Amino acid sequence: MSIERLDKILASQNLGSRRDAGAMIRRGVAAVNGSVVKKADYKVDTQSDEVTVNGEPLVIREFLYLMMNKPAGVLSASRDTRAQTVVDLLPPELKRRGLFPAGRLDRDTEGLLIITDDGAFAHRMLAPKSHVYKLYEAVLARPVSTQDIAAFENGVELNDMTCLPAQLQVLEEGETPLVRVRIREGKFHQVKRMFLARGNEVLKLKRVQIGELKLDDKLAPGAARELDNSERSAIF
Ligand code: URA
Repeated sequence: MSIERLDKILASQNLGSRRDAGAMIRRGVAAVNGSVVKKADYKVDTQSDEVTVNGEPLVIREFLYLMMNKPAGVLSASRDTRAQTVVDLLPPELKRRGLFPAGRLDRDTEGLLIITDDGAFAHRMLAPKSHVYKLYEAVLARPVSTQDIAAFENGVELNDMTCLPAQLQVLEEGETPLVRVRIREGKFHQVKRMFLARGNEVLKLKRVQIGELKLDDKLAPGAARELDNSERSAIF
């Protein structure tokens, strides 16, 4: 974004639809560089012009980067005709057109999900060459052996591929142990398939970290908030 219509800018910053924004502008609530502007198609340079609405400076964000604590039972998608999606869960103040989940979690998987409208950022985050690690916590149906830990480290064999080395750590021993898995791929059902290949089964799966970005444990399941710049750069 650099040169944009004023009504489009207001609408893109969640101040209502284009029509609402046009009506606000005609009422004289918006100013550019200190002068009231009443024309909806007034051209603004988003890099250098200062826009205010009702006297409050408008921080124009080109892209939105959100962290969600995805609950189980919700689809990692923008829209679906039948099922509830992660974008449906966003509160109005965080919703805007073009948002999508950067990477998918299975419907029954919980935890850290990035939602953005910055396609290039999502592409870089998901590209194998970016080497972004993901950390999962899983409850398993059976105990883990030292051979399982070694197999993860050597690259688990799946039907159609050999996984990259992954780290498996037992957090809580027991019949249905709690483990932590660190992988840097994101193939379909990867963690579940890795355990199936070892004769085990994932009963519950939660992503807790992407790169150096940890899931905010103050976020209730289904809640989302914006990432700050340092959090964004912690991803990769
Ligand atoms: N691995 C899985 O099996 N499922 C997920 O949702 C994420 C990683």
